[in-house]
Amino acid sequence: MPATRPNPRLVKIHRSYTVDEIAKLFGVHRNTVRAWIARGLPTIDERRPVLVLGRHLAAFLRARRTANKRPCGPGEIYCLRCREPRRPASGAVRYHPLTPTRGNLVGLCGCCGAGLNRRVSLAKLPLFLGDLSAAMPLAQEHIDESPQPSLNSDFEQDRPDHANASP
Ligand SMILES: [Zn+2]
Repeated sequence: MPATRPNPRLVKIHRSYTVDEIAKLFGVHRNTVRAWIARGLPTIDERRPVLVLGRHLAAFLRARRTANKRPCGPGEIYCLRCREPRRPASGAVRYHPLTPTRGNLVGLCGCCGAGLNRRVSLAKLPLFLGDLSAAMPLAQEHIDESPQPSLNSDFEQDRPDHANASP
C-alpha cells in the first residue's frame, strides 16, 4: 500500500474545492477525501455539493503531516481538528484490532468532539493508554495472553490429514 502524502503546497488557498476536485488534485479516491472530512476537514456549511476552502484543506494536510511527526503523551491522541494532542472525552477509548498485534485506538476529542484515531501495536498499548480506560474486544484478550497451548491448537490438528487414515 503506497501511502503517498498529499502535498499541501498544491492547494490554492484562495479558492474552494469540491470533493472531486480535491480527489483529482492529489490523485486520491473521492472516498479518501470524504474520510478526511469525516476526520475533521472543515467544509463550507450546508453547501451542496460540499465545498472545502483551500486554506482549510492546506491546513488540514499540514496538520496530518505534523501529527505523524509529533508524538502524543500517554493518554493523548492527536486531534486533527484541534491540531493538538488531546485527551479523549471521559478518558475512554476503544481498541479495534486490525491484526492480532496491531489495532486502532478510537475515541472522541475531549475538547471539540471530533473523532480521534490512532494506530498502535498491541505491545505498546499500555504506553499510549496512560491512565485512560480502554474497552477491549473480548476475543483479543484470549489471543495474546495465553502462553500455554490453548483450545485453538486442538482445532488446528483436526484437519483432513488424519481424518481418512484408514480405508
Ligand atoms: Zn479536538
